[in-house]
Amino acid sequence: NGKVALVTGAARGIGLGVAAWLIAEGWQVVLADIDRARGSKVAKALGNNAWFVGMDVAHESQVAVGVAEVLGQFGRLDALVSNAAVAEPHNPPLESLDLAYWNRILAVNLTGTMLLVKHCAPYLRAHHGAIVTIASTRAHQSEPDSEAYAASKGGLLSLTHALAMSLAPEIRVNAVTPGWIDARDPSARLEAPLTELDHDQHPLGRVGLVEDVAAQVAWLLSENASFVTGQELLVDGGMTRKLIYLD
Ligand code: NAD
Repeated sequence: NGKVALVTGAARGIGLGVAAWLIAEGWQVVLADIDRARGSKVAKALGNNAWFVGMDVAHESQVAVGVAEVLGQFGRLDALVSNAAVAEPHNPPLESLDLAYWNRILAVNLTGTMLLVKHCAPYLRAHHGAIVTIASTRAHQSEPDSEAYAASKGGLLSLTHALAMSLAPEIRVNAVTPGWIDARDPSARLEAPLTELDHDQHPLGRVGLVEDVAAQVAWLLSENASFVTGQELLVDGGMTRKLIYLD
């Protein structure tokens, strides 16, 4: 389709899955990641329609330079998928939780999206583009010792609808909220395979794949979603709709 998408946190996992899906749909995709070695390697493996820019999304100057590089290379930007995160839901117990740890999680998982959108918005507006943020069902439900990650994703959902109002009507902004997605490398999957219990506890009978998320991101970026903004789309195999009674 000749359009250009920027996908953050794309050196592995869900971001890489989204990048590969969009390329298969004909997008030109710029993969952004703090892991420059792995990011440039996977971009090369994805072929001629993939490029890599290194950035720490929590640093405004790096975001600004990265976005400028994208514009220098392509002269346009049609989509932003803000996926980069410290994707570790568990933190030390609150009473030993270090403020620097808390601040870093919020800086990457929440502030990073604000910075990306701030620097991408003028270009997205020019092409009536779209933004998808990647939240987590942990924005809605929790295990003990997950305050930093849960709060960052809850904030991200609010940021998403706030941005949708500020950037309408030119730019649509929606969130995709994954549940349990097996986003690990094949080697890690072999070392610790998922169990039947892992799969069976999901109403749809399996743990999710990166493609389950990528398909919904691609739809929200497409013209088929042109009347959808400020929304959250849960991709969780039904887990957050399951009522649990123990007997
Ligand atoms: P992952 O750890 O496999 O990949 C995250 C990527 O983001 C990595 O390549 C990492 O280098 C990059 N990154 C981290 N900090 C960065 C920074 N400051 N700047 C730029 N890049 C940075 O994680 P994943 O499982 O693929 O998760 C992707 C997204 O999906 C995250 O937002 C995560 O919170 C969300 N999510 C994942 C799951 C799941 O089950 N895997 C569930 C719910 C939500």
